[in-house]
Amino acid sequence: MDMDDSPAFAELLPPDRTLMGPGPSDVHPRVLRSMATPLVGYLDDYCVEIMDDIQEGLRYLFQTDNEHTLAVSGTGSAAMETAFGNLVEPDETVLVPDNGYFGARMGEMAERAGGEVHTVSAPWGEPLDPADVEAAFEEHSPTVFGFVHGETSTGVRQTRVSELTEIAHENDAYVVADTVASLGGVEFRTDEWDVDVVYSGSQKCLSAPPGASPITFNDRAVEKVHAREEPARSWYLDLEGVWEYWGEERNYHHTAPVSTLYALREALRLLAEEGLEATWERHEHVAGALTDGVEAMGVGLNTPEEYWLPTLNPVRVPDGVEDGQVIDRLLTEHGIEIVGGLGALDGEIFRVGCMGHSARPANVSQFVSAFGAVLA
Ligand code: PLP
Repeated sequence: MDMDDSPAFAELLPPDRTLMGPGPSDVHPRVLRSMATPLVGYLDDYCVEIMDDIQEGLRYLFQTDNEHTLAVSGTGSAAMETAFGNLVEPDETVLVPDNGYFGARMGEMAERAGGEVHTVSAPWGEPLDPADVEAAFEEHSPTVFGFVHGETSTGVRQTRVSELTEIAHENDAYVVADTVASLGGVEFRTDEWDVDVVYSGSQKCLSAPPGASPITFNDRAVEKVHAREEPARSWYLDLEGVWEYWGEERNYHHTAPVSTLYALREALRLLAEEGLEATWERHEHVAGALTDGVEAMGVGLNTPEEYWLPTLNPVRVPDGVEDGQVIDRLLTEHGIEIVGGLGALDGEIFRVGCMGHSARPANVSQFVSAFGAVLA
């Protein structure tokens, strides 16, 4: 490398996009502005106040009184790994779903934590049936059970959550819920539904950029982590270490992503101003307009009303239509991002997100009219 070969990048000027895919979704302008404010040190009193606010906002978002509620430095997968990497000990039996892409990721992470993984089945496009979960508990006796509340790969909402947690707790197991694509968009009640560990992401329903991911552990789960025979395999995501910073001590563990925390705090402030129930209603209402719009064109959804996930709409690819062409034209001609199906649903569905700041009437009417124009 020659010292004279200094790169000459153009000024950063991202294209104008309307983000209607599975995330990230549009970031609220107030959140964007918060990221342009000056940094303070990660142990500055001001930063500590920001962290206190975030924890209060997250408890409201999760609907929990759990003390161990914080934002993991990293994306939703880092929060997923914090959950499984701390809760699962080597040789423990773990049960995860096989009805979507992210249930499979849970399994991979649990395996890397040393767990022995079994799956409970449902077809891609359907939620888990509690009877199947019960049968899987009888067969495998897992000590940790994970489920995905909003499966982004299929656009399915896991219903009957309390029944799942009841089965797990009757069997003395711990329950982990993935709410990356649902928290802040559809109803989720951590304490009332008795979920031990819940994690999410910032870049979907919260209208913030990726990078600071909500997670909460109840006391029961924290006791399990405290009682581990060997430390979590990841140093960075070890709850014991991370809690030295997020807990009362406020000691250095790793440098907090300060601007990302500002963004998350502003997103939580917006949520508190709107009110959680009003936010859920907005997502349902706006996504309802989206599905009405495509249904008026004769295009259906791949999920029945019963487990429809308003934040991620699996719109069926009409017969004779090439999904890739529609996706490309929406992006190049209309600046709208959506994506296609994954795995068993590849080529079968478009995945149209309606989350956070993207869950607005303006986005939906822009999408519906562009989708109609491209299909015409
Ligand atoms: N879980 C679900 C349900 C998701 O939709 C995603 C991302 O799309 C993840 C986990 C992983 O999150 P990330 O891509 O932010 O690491």
